[in-house]
Amino acid sequence: MKVNFANADAINDMNISGFTQNVSFAAGNWSDDEIRQVDLALGFMHRLLDSRVLLRTSSGAELTFTRVGTQTEGPGLDGLNGGGTIRFMDTTFTSGEDDVMTVVFHEVGHNWDEENGKFEQWKALSGWTQTDPHDSTRFVKGGDQDTNWWHRRTANFVQNDNYDQQNPYEDFACAFSAYMMNRAGKVFTRGPGISAAPDKGTFIDNFVNGLGS
Ligand SMILES: [Zn+2]
Repeated sequence: MKVNFANADAINDMNISGFTQNVSFAAGNWSDDEIRQVDLALGFMHRLLDSRVLLRTSSGAELTFTRVGTQTEGPGLDGLNGGGTIRFMDTTFTSGEDDVMTVVFHEVGHNWDEENGKFEQWKALSGWTQTDPHDSTRFVKGGDQDTNWWHRRTANFVQNDNYDQQNPYEDFACAFSAYMMNRAGKVFTRGPGISAAPDKGTFIDNFVNGLGS
């Protein structure tokens, strides 16, 4: 069992889901202190479940945490997850170690957004649909720039920057992060946190408890 840490070469003009604009990064290098900060979140999840299940992908593959450098193009990001590779950048480490924990939990959450075994039920909590409901009284279009998603106006969300209102994947990653910060006794700085979405807190609690051992 291991988690891999890798330094990245420069990345030019990479397409990422959810955004129309591509992203570019300079090459990056991990510092020992940055790895220590990432490990705070990994160690917490390990102890919480007495299991390493969240330190792998949902299919049991090893995780790789890659350090890219300064972002030179595209929407500002704190972290990026694609196919078991979680990328962190300079901005991941500018707001203190609690914020690093928030980002690590968020990106690990993406490993389970549609792989949590109950993705249909997850979407139903917010009424996520890709079919235009033509009902602006009850539904709002999410902020995803690539894919059309709508959610119920009355749905509960944990962040106050609307990041979790883009699509059900960001919704899950944000709620997972807010839940883990709450369990860790840390302040979730992105919004009101999991207490603002008790239905999602219960969903993630059931999901996490089902992963144990
Ligand atoms: Zn995300």
